[in-house]
Amino acid sequence: MREIGFRLLCTVLWIPVAAHAEWITRDEPIMGTRCAVELWSEDRVSGDAAITSVFDDMRRIDRLMSTWKEDTEISRVNREGGKHPVKISAELFGLLKESVRYSELTHGAFDITYASVGYLYDFKRGVHPNQKAIDAALPGINWRHMVLDEKKLTVFFTRPGMRIDLGGIAKGYSVDRGIEILKKQGISRAMVNAGGDTRILGDRFGKPWVVGVRDPDHEGKVFLRLPLTDAAFSTSGDYERYFDEDGKRFHHIIDPKTGDSARKCRSVTIISDTATRTDALTKSVFVMGPEEGIRFIDTLTGVDAVAVAPDGKMFYSKGLAPPE
Ligand code: ADP
Ligand code: MG
Repeated sequence: MREIGFRLLCTVLWIPVAAHAEWITRDEPIMGTRCAVELWSEDRVSGDAAITSVFDDMRRIDRLMSTWKEDTEISRVNREGGKHPVKISAELFGLLKESVRYSELTHGAFDITYASVGYLYDFKRGVHPNQKAIDAALPGINWRHMVLDEKKLTVFFTRPGMRIDLGGIAKGYSVDRGIEILKKQGISRAMVNAGGDTRILGDRFGKPWVVGVRDPDHEGKVFLRLPLTDAAFSTSGDYERYFDEDGKRFHHIIDPKTGDSARKCRSVTIISDTATRTDALTKSVFVMGPEEGIRFIDTLTGVDAVAVAPDGKMFYSKGLAPPE
């Protein structure tokens, strides 16, 4: 009798705890932005552990690739890269190579050496370089002056004063890593986000995930809803890090040709298969401007884009164009 009673108790207690599958969401400030993971897990404990492993990896990437911290690999490259070849990790080398690939593909619209001028801006304090300072630093922007030695795993800058910054690709990369980490732990439905970069794994039980793109002028307003399954998307806007001066907006997306903020777009959204790709391509289209940028996107396979011009006009790639 007692034994039956005990078993019954165990059954009642055990079933709801162990078999309670659910959606779990968490966000944390990492890499200078808000990062979030949402996933479907068969139980709370392993779901929570999976989310923790994604955030841990994002913190690890930040420790390698942040230019805001003195002791990261990339900060050492920026200090010493103009003096001698600097040995770096295979992971950082891989992302530098990938960045060069996007510079070649976009004819320099995407260029991590933008930082040779970019470091002279301070958007929090409302500081921008004057023309003289830009002219002096501008020759440092050119990915071809960054020499990568595959065998020795070194990077060398052939121009003194050159700098690099992975702010336009590292978050996308960390999101892709996050998805791989979750897949390895048996997760098949998830969303990983870091700032403007998001990737989605699987669907929401027969339905797509629906993601929103904000209106460049209204923080709480969504102007575009996209149904997505197994896809990545990124948005870059001139409203993320910026200040206005004499009616001119200075913001964090820099045109490598001029060293000034790119002003032909207000926002760009890219959809493709990986977040590394969508992250790199938002800056590219932003710098090219809506017309040239969308024409460029239409030459690629498996990539779509929406760009908003300064007058609010929207430009869509072929795959997203609304019916005439
Ligand atoms: P988020 O960091 O919110 O994902 P973005 O994806 O729009 O924002 O990336 C903006 C960052 O891209 C800038 O802060 C800067 O580090 C970097 N960046 C700016 N201009 C360029 C450029 N022309 N090429 C490559 N990276 C750039
Ligand atoms: Mg980004």
